[in-house]
Amino acid sequence: MDHHHYRDGVLFCEDVSADTLAERFDTPLYVYSRATLTEHYQRMRQAFEPLDPLMCYSIKSCQNTHICRLLHELGSGFDVVSGGELHRALHVGASPARIVFAGVGKTDREINAGLDAGIGLFNIESESELDVIAGLAQARGTVASAALRVNPDVDPKTHQYTTTGKKETKFGVDLERAVAFFKHAAKLDSVNLRGIHLHIGSPIRDAGALADAIAKSLVLIDQLAADGLVVDTLDIGGGYGAYYGEDNGPTPADYAAPIIPLLKDRKLRVILEPGRSIAANAGILLTRVLHVKQSGERHFVIVDASMNELIRPALYDAYHFVWPVNAGEFTPPTRQMHQEFAGLQCCDVVGPVCESSDFLAKGRDLPPVKRGDLLAVFGAGAYAMTMASQYNSRPRPAEVLVEGQTPRVIRRRETYADLLAPEQIDPA
Ligand SMILES: *Cc1c(COP(=O)(O)O)cnc(C)c1O
Repeated sequence: MDHHHYRDGVLFCEDVSADTLAERFDTPLYVYSRATLTEHYQRMRQAFEPLDPLMCYSIKSCQNTHICRLLHELGSGFDVVSGGELHRALHVGASPARIVFAGVGKTDREINAGLDAGIGLFNIESESELDVIAGLAQARGTVASAALRVNPDVDPKTHQYTTTGKKETKFGVDLERAVAFFKHAAKLDSVNLRGIHLHIGSPIRDAGALADAIAKSLVLIDQLAADGLVVDTLDIGGGYGAYYGEDNGPTPADYAAPIIPLLKDRKLRVILEPGRSIAANAGILLTRVLHVKQSGERHFVIVDASMNELIRPALYDAYHFVWPVNAGEFTPPTRQMHQEFAGLQCCDVVGPVCESSDFLAKGRDLPPVKRGDLLAVFGAGAYAMTMASQYNSRPRPAEVLVEGQTPRVIRRRETYADLLAPEQIDPA
């Protein structure tokens, strides 16, 4: 699963103890394992190997340039959803042809940046956007390569806030409107609409739902072909699961199994946009216990990390396995939700931020912990730092990438000066 392991009761990231990392780089701290990132990328690529897919790592899951550069070196392209992410992809040397750009609200400035770079695919999400891209491309005397993001109306059985492929979400265009959309696009010289894009939600707990969505798009592709409208690219999106501790969920091979037979003989260029499945389990968040206190029936463990550093529990009611770094006799055999130890205590692990939604874990059976103890929050590689804020004027933590015995700071801890810097405006 990953390279975060207990050795003699102490948590290690690859060959460095989490204790050492916290001592050296302070807490809260994001710690990523290079070997895990690499393995997860390769496992995904290999699962879909019969389709020879173009992998486009989804930057929004974990955007650090050092991590993007690693993915680039592994052969990945990039899925971007903003001009800032496009900037990151180009910064690490990505070939523009291997960049795909999604998002329901691309600004003119962002579209122009994509056109100027010559990106591989604009994933278009509305008629209005198609016309805007056509106009901007024409003004630049260029042709935009594009795909239509369709809404296949399938249910990935995930949280409502991460469901994107059902009717009545803001994403994509309903399947029934797709033919008319393509016919309109065929009249535009400055857009080459050549693909279908899907991204139905995340994490997709039901591998069959993605295959269903793909089957629906193949029907559409055949319908289009009958009208002389050629589609040569199918971008099947991201949303492949990660392990958070509740259940195992589908593996890359589970996702690939029903999809490969559907696409093997179709001569389509296949694109994948994995984010979470690569980054989530590659990262942990280390946090120090500040105080423990009893409040009515509840036992609170107050730590120095908060919803600022990991908003997923507050935002999606997400579960993350949390456990002491120095676990001793409580060393967990797995990171399953339910641990079979005597002497655990039911706790809420909460942060210092002034919000009741500021919690990392609720009603969780943990070994006894005291002030100064170090806890690890697992599965914090994706949608953690990328969603981090400075709320309550809390500087964002450092990020460390571990390779074997070597930790390297890949983003320094923010300072109070960083908090004020954008506000240093010359007096009028
Ligand atoms: C967020 C996103 C992804 C990545 O989703 P993961 O769950 O991280 O794999 C892929 N494609 C698009 C269009 C996205 O918005």
